[in-house]
Amino acid sequence: MDSRIEKVIENLRINNMEGIYAENIEDVRNIVKNMLFDNCVITAGGSVSVKESGVWDIINDDKYNFLDRAKPGITDEEQQEAFKAHIGCDFFFCSSNAVTEKGELVNVDGFSNRVSAISFGPKKVIMIVGKNKIVKNINEGLLRVKKIAAPKNVLRFGIDTPCAKLGHCVSLEKCENPDFADGCKVKGRICASYLISSYQKIKNRITVIICNEELGY
Ligand code: SF4
Repeated sequence: MDSRIEKVIENLRINNMEGIYAENIEDVRNIVKNMLFDNCVITAGGSVSVKESGVWDIINDDKYNFLDRAKPGITDEEQQEAFKAHIGCDFFFCSSNAVTEKGELVNVDGFSNRVSAISFGPKKVIMIVGKNKIVKNINEGLLRVKKIAAPKNVLRFGIDTPCAKLGHCVSLEKCENPDFADGCKVKGRICASYLISSYQKIKNRITVIICNEELGY
């Protein structure tokens, strides 16, 4: 195993989170299949990594009770209900914007349903994380959001923000290392709530499957 991934997994363990190594997305899928049980209640955040790894297709199987907040034709009201359904569900699937070498998770949300679920509610949070999301520290993780994750996500959703045009957060136009919450003041801003997950009160409620391939952004 790559020594950097090994270090992350060890530091996640020290922070009461479980880190599992996956050599490739085939491994990721097998790990996930072995965790699930018939009729388990599943919710998920919108995640390119979950989709690229094929995990989205697994949790959509009829033998599980997946409450899909993005299913075709869903109304705004139904989507809000699906967001709230993470409270008490068996599994919540998502990725992390960044994972530090010290075993911390860095996440920035717009509607905040994902950071809410990561913090509290689901019995288990399962994160699918490609090696491209490993960073040295929290500051580098927050810069990763400004330089990579947020600009790519606004393009994915067709949202009109400064970073959609610039390719990076507007706050980086002023200096190289802006305050973490500095950014635009437009309606479409997707950086609203900032969550750092460090030492957890409930041991292994969060599992991070780290894949030795690049996944998502
Ligand atoms: S604060 Fe605005 S400009 Fe900066 S990354 Fe977020 S959405 Fe883009």
